[in-house]
Amino acid sequence: MDRFFDDRGNRSTLRREEDNNLKLSAMVDSGYRHSKRVRDMLDSLGLKPSDIVSTGDLEKLPVISRGEVVELEQREPPFGGFCGENTDIDRIFISPGPVYEPHLGENELWGRGYFAAGFRKGERVLNTFSYHMVAAGLTFHEGLRAAGATVIPSGTSGTETQVQLIRDLGITGYTGTPSFLNAIINKAEEMGYDFKKDFGLRRACFVAEPLQPSLRIKFEDEYGIDTYQMYGATEVGDIAYECSEKAGWHICEDVIVEIVDPSTGKCVESGQLGEVVVTRLNDIFFLLRFGTGDLSSIVESDCACGRTSRRLSGISGRVGDAVKVRGMFVTPGQIARVREAFPRVRLQVVVTRESYRDFLTVEIVDDEHYKAIDVGRFRDVFNEICAVKIDRIETRLVGTGRDKPEYEEGKPIIDKREWK
Ligand SMILES: [Zn+2]
Repeated sequence: MDRFFDDRGNRSTLRREEDNNLKLSAMVDSGYRHSKRVRDMLDSLGLKPSDIVSTGDLEKLPVISRGEVVELEQREPPFGGFCGENTDIDRIFISPGPVYEPHLGENELWGRGYFAAGFRKGERVLNTFSYHMVAAGLTFHEGLRAAGATVIPSGTSGTETQVQLIRDLGITGYTGTPSFLNAIINKAEEMGYDFKKDFGLRRACFVAEPLQPSLRIKFEDEYGIDTYQMYGATEVGDIAYECSEKAGWHICEDVIVEIVDPSTGKCVESGQLGEVVVTRLNDIFFLLRFGTGDLSSIVESDCACGRTSRRLSGISGRVGDAVKVRGMFVTPGQIARVREAFPRVRLQVVVTRESYRDFLTVEIVDDEHYKAIDVGRFRDVFNEICAVKIDRIETRLVGTGRDKPEYEEGKPIIDKREWK
């Protein structure tokens, strides 16, 4: 057993929550003394640090979006008052904006995710994230080292160079975006290699870009690469990671994740979809309730891998793209999953108000693909994925002109509700 699995990483849910509460309390206390932002916020709300002592108390505070962090930092450079005055920061990262982020000081961030992806001592891993200005390269480098792997800091070098490194250094693992790995494989094939036969790259851990299910199948089936995903943000570090079960993302240690209704900032019921709001428990950057803008839900069941941390269901869209129907969010990501289950069926969701109630219509182009499906099963699958029942299915005939007007491939959901 490894420290990333057993030590602290496998406390009981209750014990973890107690630990998090203590750390949250300490963070708010320290933040009130050292961070102008925390002090101003609590004072303006008429709260004392002793009012925030458990994760449930966080609801008393507003959610802060990335846009707001940028704005505050520009108003009060460099850290918008989120950082203490005399804090010892080992490096400052720069993102476009510009946004400035202090390194959170914990070199083991991301180590847990890489460990779960199977990276160990003896693995040689290509780290294709940029080491220049931004946090990614160095941060993931340290995470890989924490898991024990040897890192090749190939950064943003061209695909031909990456192929050369894979060949010459006997690379066994990759970290970067899925699209860049795909580009590297294409380049290798263009150079005359048989990627699976000629190279030993068998493991990849992706972050910073969603992994399309079809691309995952391609990597795993065609190229024999075991794939994993991690999730996080520069402002708060690592948030969650996949284990070998690949059935949800385990929430990292020392982060509090809330799933909230973006319109109220209040937590939704467990299992429901909402915005991922993160508080990184630390003593450097006092950012409480960072709103990621990503939508997810908590998976209730225990994971077969044995880890006791709660899991996220994966990211099913961005807050702005989601449409709330009868209290539940329906996202383009969910519609994409419905489409995956019924390939080639062209559909679009239209939400209206009828008799003071949200009304969900699925409009489908009536062609041979639609004729081939079982409509009852379609309704069941839709309900299972979106957690909202279809009120009506409308079909449009092809070639009558009625199939064209509003149907847009890029717009999975149209909200036609008028709130008069
Ligand atoms: Zn697991």
